[in-house]
Amino acid sequence: MATDAPEFTDSRYRNGHVWAAPAAGQTTHTRPQPARLGRMRIVVPAGGIGGARFLRGLRAALGTGTAATEEQTTDHSITVIGNTGDDITLFGLRICPDLDTVMYTLGGGINEEQGWGRTDEGFTVKEELLAYGMKPTWFGLGDRDTATHIVRTQMLAAGYPLSAVTEALCDRWRPGVRLLPMTDDQVETHVVVNGDEGRRAIHFQEWWIKHRAALPAEQIVGVGAEKAEPAPGVLDAIAEADAVILPPSNPVVSVGSILGVPGIREAMVDRTVVGVSPIIGGAPVRGMADACLTAIGVETGAGPVAEHLGADLLDGWLVDEADAGTEVEGVEVRSRPLYMSDPAATEAIARAAVDLAVELAERRGERG
Ligand code: GDP
Ligand code: CA
Repeated sequence: MATDAPEFTDSRYRNGHVWAAPAAGQTTHTRPQPARLGRMRIVVPAGGIGGARFLRGLRAALGTGTAATEEQTTDHSITVIGNTGDDITLFGLRICPDLDTVMYTLGGGINEEQGWGRTDEGFTVKEELLAYGMKPTWFGLGDRDTATHIVRTQMLAAGYPLSAVTEALCDRWRPGVRLLPMTDDQVETHVVVNGDEGRRAIHFQEWWIKHRAALPAEQIVGVGAEKAEPAPGVLDAIAEADAVILPPSNPVVSVGSILGVPGIREAMVDRTVVGVSPIIGGAPVRGMADACLTAIGVETGAGPVAEHLGADLLDGWLVDEADAGTEVEGVEVRSRPLYMSDPAATEAIARAAVDLAVELAERRGERG
């Protein structure tokens, strides 16, 4: 039942860039090893929900596997550079929402309906904190999730860098990717708002969760970004990458934060970079990314977001069929369905992104 095979048996993969092409309905366990296996090294700078869902599709497309749900069937590798701009300290606990969303999603522990937080979660700790009158009350701190934050906080207090802590947490979750924080330094996204209480800067999480991004934002600032250094392994992973794939993550506070760590964007410019548009038909598919784009003066559209990311960075850009005809000077734009509606659709999007990266990398190779 190899209904979707033609897309994957393209002659482009003859030069070693070959990966497992599962037939529809086939389980990953019986997926055949491709005859000529090229080793693709892919780097993905990712935020939370959009990034994590895309990564699950990419992992399936590449057959890189995980102990939780799939077997590793290839030598391809995925290195994720996780956004830490959303990180926050609450109740003495260091919380890294995007790293955790990636880790739980790929490790099989995510609340699927919600897209963030743990499965089978309880909120007793939160209730008890409320009973003490502890603030803030707007953060959805789950009991199981709290254990992750306790481990992280304890390790950080002992002197381990966040990259080492993340590696230790991933020992349990086996996400099937190498998960690196963008930096071991503290970078926090703050939002300058001008409301009833005057002009002030609040933590991104307060703006996003408490105010549902409804307070008009004058500015979005990565506090500490200019002095931050890429975490160990980040620049090497980019330098060795066959492709950098930008998932459909928030272009401002996820991908933008990662690119804002000095050295990361510069390193990526030298690689083949393909992005998947997080904006479909002029709107974010879910969430409030439009409020972030408006705050930095970028129109909410697949084309304007690509222009904002820059033609020096992007080689290719996937837009939804609703945005067919989008043109971005200096960028190869292709349209295809971009709704990550189920695992198969998501895997096909990921495969299309890799497909385009392979094609553009070969074109780069022929040029120079
Ligand atoms: P967050 O950290 O949880 O906000 O998640 P991310 O930064 O990874 O990504 C959130 C963005 O993903 C949203 O703003 C949407 O624009 C985008 N997104 C979510 N679902 C889809 C989808 O099915 N298709 C596409 N193309 N984009 C999506
Ligand atoms: Ca986030």
